[in-house]
Amino acid sequence: MQDLLNSIITPEVKFTLTLIIALIGILYLISIIWVIRDSYLRGANPVLWGAISLVPFIGAFAYAMMRPPMLLSDKDEQNLDFALKQRQLLHYGECGKCGYPVEREYLMCPRCGTQLKNECRQCGHALNPEWMVCPYCCAPVRK
Ligand SMILES: [Zn+2]
Ligand SMILES: [Zn+2]
Repeated sequence: MQDLLNSIITPEVKFTLTLIIALIGILYLISIIWVIRDSYLRGANPVLWGAISLVPFIGAFAYAMMRPPMLLSDKDEQNLDFALKQRQLLHYGECGKCGYPVEREYLMCPRCGTQLKNECRQCGHALNPEWMVCPYCCAPVRK
C-alpha cells in the first residue's frame, strides 16, 4: 500500500499539488481583496463584506450575488445628470397644464396646445402674459 502511494505521489505530482493549493490560496486572497475594494467603491460596508468574504469562496460568491448594482461614481454621475435636467427645466420651464418641458420662446405647448405666451404684434417675440410692453421692440402690448 505504501509502495503504491509512493509510486503515485512522485515528486512531480507533489509539486503539482502544491502548486494547485498555492494557486487556490492566492485566488482566495484576491477574492477577499476584491470584495473589500468593490464593496468600498459601491458604497457597501467593506468591513462587513470583508468579514463575510473570509469564508473561502462562498463569501466572495455571496457578495457577487448581493452587491449593490451600481458604482458610487456612476451614481454620482446619475445624480449630476438628474440635477442638470432639472436645471434645464428651470431654464426653459414647463407647460402649466401638462408639464411638458417648453422653451422660453414657445408661444404654445407643443404637446397639448395650451397658449403659454402672447406674441408681440409688432416683432413676433414671445411675451409673458403679465408684460405691459414688449421688451424687444418697445411696442405696447394690446390685450
Ligand atoms: Zn402642455
Ligand atoms: Zn415686440
